[in-house]
Amino acid sequence: MLVTHGTLITFGEKNQVVPDGAILVRDGYIADIGSTAELAAKYPDEEALDAEGKLVMPGLICAHTHFYGAFARGMAIPGEPPKNFPEILQKLWWRLDKALTLEDVRYSTLVCLADAIRHGTTALIDHHASPNAIEGSLDVIAQAVEEAGVRACLCYEVSDRDGKEKARAGIKENERFIRKMKGGLMGARGGLVGATFGLHASLTLSDETLEECAALARELGAGFHIHVAEDMADVEDSLEKSGLRVVERLERLGILGPRTIAAHCVHINEREMGILRETGTKVAHNPRSNMNNAVGVAPVLEMLRRGITVGLGNDGFGGNMFTEMHVAYLVHKLARRDPQAMSADQVLRMAFQNNAQIAAPFFGLNPEEKGKRLGGHPPSPPAGELPCTPLGELSVGAWADIILVDYRPPTPLAADNFPWHIVFGVDGTQVDTTIVGGRVLMKGRELLTLDEEEIYAKARELAAKVWRRI
Ligand SMILES: [Zn+2]
Repeated sequence: MLVTHGTLITFGEKNQVVPDGAILVRDGYIADIGSTAELAAKYPDEEALDAEGKLVMPGLICAHTHFYGAFARGMAIPGEPPKNFPEILQKLWWRLDKALTLEDVRYSTLVCLADAIRHGTTALIDHHASPNAIEGSLDVIAQAVEEAGVRACLCYEVSDRDGKEKARAGIKENERFIRKMKGGLMGARGGLVGATFGLHASLTLSDETLEECAALARELGAGFHIHVAEDMADVEDSLEKSGLRVVERLERLGILGPRTIAAHCVHINEREMGILRETGTKVAHNPRSNMNNAVGVAPVLEMLRRGITVGLGNDGFGGNMFTEMHVAYLVHKLARRDPQAMSADQVLRMAFQNNAQIAAPFFGLNPEEKGKRLGGHPPSPPAGELPCTPLGELSVGAWADIILVDYRPPTPLAADNFPWHIVFGVDGTQVDTTIVGGRVLMKGRELLTLDEEEIYAKARELAAKVWRRI
């Protein structure tokens, strides 16, 4: 397939804007890039997809989400409204997740995936909980992901909050699924589904459980996906349990490292930032969620300055990652009352380069690189990182995860100013076409892999039953 006549925004190392550009897609990845005139002459027989002047960008990545949370929209929370973060967990999320069946998990996931495709989000890192339907839950999600055709990395959140037996079942579900994904991280199932080891948060995990998970993950070659210091309650609990702050406790118990994603990191100090940096632990910033839960503002600028890889997640808010970028751009300025506090290019670095660095290892290698590896020339990744195909950029050899955005710039658009076009003028609702691994999932705003009407009708029916059970 040849995508023609688009304004390419390539991201990646050689970040550039290519007017009237074209992209050749072969076997799921990008095989050539250039001007439309050049590529149309080079590949005259290739089936063309005319972008008609739209922006052509890499698909967006979400570094932290919860597919299981979709049925919370519009739900009345029984009793007094929660007055702080621990009450939000107890009164909302820990009631909702206990009410979910495997069928609910399937439709909750499909709702999120349809939303993601609509808004140009092509890879998501999910964190799942359904304490009364643990076994097989990751298979149910994986099946929905494959039907939708997006990429997702899955895990089950292990927690001691519901007792030993549920913690055990959570551990088993991670282990089973990671093994099924052939070591979890090398892109079984055509690079669409990946796996990691899920942990809820320090405040619901004992030393014993964390030690057991650390030993098992080492054996499996997996990292973790865990909430870290989202609220002060997590810090206070950790100090009480161990005399250590959250990042210190997790480091001592072997949870951190280059394959681990720490979501939030709102309440961490300089020493903890040093530990995140030294261990190569990745961080997912979720500004909409932090504002909604009123937990605080994460020290993102300090983390970026120290060279920590901070990406952007939505923590279960809608799949429109453009909105998350807009909020990330605004919240730090307001919190510091400093208009220089966050720049648009820093926001885009988190959303594209950093998110790609976090997500790409879960989705393995493209066929060409696999071939090279078989031929005895393995590409060598940085120490501690896994070999993987680039995501989040339009470059030869990267996965063909591409979106067409119907945005007509009212002012000149160039490589040095497009971040400001994105934060002030581009939104997920303008996404017209979504492509993942060369497969067109949405064209002209019409979903091609999912029956949205059926999904939404069934989801409304199931959500009403879930609400009654709560
Ligand atoms: Zn979360």
